Parts: sequence; structure tokens; C-alpha cells
Amino acid sequence: MPVDFETIFNKYNIQTAQSGKHKRTGYSNVVCPYCHGNAGNHLGFCHETGGCICFRCGGGKYSPKALSLVLKIDINKAKQLIQGHTTGFLKLSFEGFKSEVDTVDSKKLNLRPLIKFHREYLENRGFNVDRLIHFFDLQSTGYETDPFYFKNKIFVPYYLNNELITYTTRDVSVDTKQSGMRAKYITCKKSEGLLPPNHFIYNYDNIKHRKKIRTLFFEGPMDCFRFPTCSGGLSGVKFPPAQVKFIIDNFDYPVFLLDPDEAGDIASQKAFDEIEVLTGRAPEVYELDGSLKNPDGSLKDAGDMTYEESGNLLKMLDIKP
Ligand SMILES: [Zn+2]
Repeated sequence: MPVDFETIFNKYNIQTAQSGKHKRTGYSNVVCPYCHGNAGNHLGFCHETGGCICFRCGGGKYSPKALSLVLKIDINKAKQLIQGHTTGFLKLSFEGFKSEVDTVDSKKLNLRPLIKFHREYLENRGFNVDRLIHFFDLQSTGYETDPFYFKNKIFVPYYLNNELITYTTRDVSVDTKQSGMRAKYITCKKSEGLLPPNHFIYNYDNIKHRKKIRTLFFEGPMDCFRFPTCSGGLSGVKFPPAQVKFIIDNFDYPVFLLDPDEAGDIASQKAFDEIEVLTGRAPEVYELDGSLKNPDGSLKDAGDMTYEESGNLLKMLDIKP
């Protein structure tokens, strides 16, 4: 059992349902502090995922918060208790990442509205630039930045409830397709972000209402540009445990659409197995099969699709825009 809630409740002399209709396999069920009236053992703490749900007043609860209410203790103490009673994969995700800063300092980047050169680059890729700015808050970094290598890039912010968590920047001064180079992203230094990009999901604020509906996940943030209301970016396919947990907690029906070969990658396979074990449902995984080509013969990624092609893709995968 990855999270041993029974032992926690035992220590605090909290009775869990041992029989009857409130006894559920895989859960520790206790009296729900969120419910009014009927005080049955409706609040279930899931041993497999570490999540928490009330079977009466409904909705997933943030488990450290719920535990703190049940035990009448501080939320940080509740987090420690969960961490201390967690094993295996989930323990890694609860350990997560300790940031060295309280806020992300973007002042050093001298941000300005998207400059003409960047607008033209995006227009040439077929984007409606004002729409991109509306959904993704794209800007340009200044001519003078600290460090210098961030200068004159497209600034791509990662938000969580309107708070800047981290960012990446994109250099468009070289034609990455022609020269055969990989996309030139330079990302916020680890010591200056609140989370590493791949502990989190790019475009989260625009898709956080999609817990109960199918949602697309791409590798790169710019892959989301065609799908602002229904896709999130993974920032690579290393899938740290914290990111897998973040996906499980926030999206019940993830649909992964990865670049060719990456879907079979060992880290990806491991992540998909974890999701299946923890949720009882295998996630859907597809790879861009290389049938879509750019005029120059290079492979199209999701960001290169026309609006028509992306509409067809959503229909095919049964994703609501
Ligand atoms: Zn309740």
C-alpha cells in the first residue's frame, strides 16, 4: 500500500469504517469534516493514489488539507505524516522539489510585447498571433537581459492559478528545420523557478477545468499553441514522479500524443504503467506517425498543423475543444 492511512488514523485514535456500506476496499473511510448533517464514514482516503474523496458531499479533496481537518492538526504536519507513511513511487512524488526562491523574477528579462520579428515568425507558422497572446501571454525578452543569453527570445510563461511558476524561451533566429537542429529552447534556471517545467504541466490554467474530460498532452509547450483550451505540455518525456502525480490528480482521462519513438521510450512506458496501476485505467497513448509533412519534406509537429488539421485530430481522438 503506497500510503498507509490506516496506521495514521490508528495513531490518532480515529475510527475508520471496518464493515458495512462505508467500508471500501483500498480506502480508509472516516467521518467527513466537509459534510453537513449525516455523519457517516463518507470521506475516503485512497491507499493507491494518496488522494481523497467524499462519497457523499462529493468532489476530490486535497488530501493533506482533508487529513489536517480530520486529525485537527496543522496542514504541514499532515503533509509530513503522509510523506512518512508513503512508500515507493508515490513517496518520490510527495518529496518533489524544494525551490530556492519565493517568486520567479522575470524583471531581469526586460520583457516587452512581442516584437515584429517574433510576430512574423509565428504568423509564418500559420498562427493567429493575437489569439496566442490571449491564451499564452507570450512576450519578447529584452535586448538586454541577465543572463545575456535570454535576449531577444520569445518568452513562454508557465502559470499556476495566475502565478508565474517557471518559463522557457524560444530562439527563432535560426531556422531549426533547415539546419537540422533541434528547437532552440532556453529554460529558466532550476535555482530560479518555483518548479522545474517537467514537474508541472504547461498551459495548466487554461485546462484545469478538464478533470472529467479527455485532455491532450504533448511533449513541447509550443505543441499546445494549436490547442489552447484542451492540451497541456509535458516539457519532455522524462516524466518525473511529481509530474505523473500531478496528471493523475488533475486529469482523469489523459490522452498522450507524443513524437515518433518517444511513446516507446522507457521513461514514458514507466509513467504510463504507473498511471494504470494508480488509477486502474491505462492512459491512451498515440504517436505522431510522421504522415504529416511540411512543404520542405520535414516532419510536422503539432505546432505546424493547420487549424483544419488540428480540428480533424481532435475529432479523431474524441477531444472536446
Ligand atoms: Zn463529505
